[in-house]
Amino acid sequence: MHIPFCKQACTYCNFHFTTSQRHKNEFVKAIIKEIDLQKDFLRNESVATIYFGGGTPSLLTIEENSLVLEKIRKEFSLEKEIEITLEANPDDITKEKLLGWRDIGINRLSIGIQSFFEEDLAWMNRAHNQDQAYQCIEESLAAGFRNMNIDLIYGGHLLSDERWEENIATSINYKIPHLSCYALTVEEKTPLHKQILLKKTVDVDSDKQARQFLILMERLKQNGFEHYEVSNFSMPGFRSRHNSSYWQGKKYLGLGPSAHSYNGIIRKWNVANNIKYIEAINKGVVESGTEVLTETQKLNEYIMISLRTIEGLDLEKIKTDWGEDKLTTMKSRLEKFKEQNLVNAAGTTIQLTNEGMLMADGIASDLFFSLSP
Ligand code: SF4
Repeated sequence: MHIPFCKQACTYCNFHFTTSQRHKNEFVKAIIKEIDLQKDFLRNESVATIYFGGGTPSLLTIEENSLVLEKIRKEFSLEKEIEITLEANPDDITKEKLLGWRDIGINRLSIGIQSFFEEDLAWMNRAHNQDQAYQCIEESLAAGFRNMNIDLIYGGHLLSDERWEENIATSINYKIPHLSCYALTVEEKTPLHKQILLKKTVDVDSDKQARQFLILMERLKQNGFEHYEVSNFSMPGFRSRHNSSYWQGKKYLGLGPSAHSYNGIIRKWNVANNIKYIEAINKGVVESGTEVLTETQKLNEYIMISLRTIEGLDLEKIKTDWGEDKLTTMKSRLEKFKEQNLVNAAGTTIQLTNEGMLMADGIASDLFFSLSP
């Protein structure tokens, strides 16, 4: 579920959100109505994971959260060991909210820490400060949230290697079992992009990003984390089941503006505009675009996603699902990456090396097949 509200705009962010909460009540009513409109998109499927993402889902009140969850419980069949994650920002986390989230069944928190340093947080225009970053983790642990992720960003202008080491060490010391760590990317039309164009701040330094990514991989490996996707690290048993489902090509239903859905054949994406979304839902319509994925699109997506995961790309699957010709082409394209030590081959499995992970998306796009007939 995409909850499209934020307190303020982080400079690097290109997700769909608004900083006005004027339509929050109508939005909550709409997303509940959307469940009725979309419940048959995935027929006969039980729900293994629920994810409140955004935006900032922790801006919802416990009552609002609870209403949405109740509706889901009423309309779908939920698996017994369901994972229910809520993304929360440090400045929204209070003892009362933590207890409320636990009471309504949230069993995993994903907290947008990004950095434990005041200067970084101010530079990114985050709504929280350093004290709140520490405090929210302590309170979440005290409230019994063991299954927890924190997001961290590296490669930013003010983040020295020493500070990055400290951010990693702090996370390890708190025994956070899952870390999602992202290289700062400058997306077009973001405030950061404008600041760089106006020379109000400096562009990202790709050498520094590569260095900090290598530091990250080394430190987390030393401390028992499994690097199970390019940006994701977990202690044994704490992988995100929700995100893993995307990477395994499973079906999902997305609710809320800009949310995507996939049923194995069709991909849909809801309109990324809160007013249009609410107005359409009130008329009984989910305003969305759709496409039927071609076999080549499915193959390219498999290449893109599988290469990013620890399981890697399975050549046997390429042969079975897409044929001998594709396999032959793929094998010959992989040769140069093997010579450059960017990929490893173990039997029929192709995995990125640490150096390969630095350029995962570039390698994947070099392996893509042409979409034109
Ligand atoms: S809180 Fe998250 S979604 Fe909102 S602006 Fe910041 S990064 Fe983007």
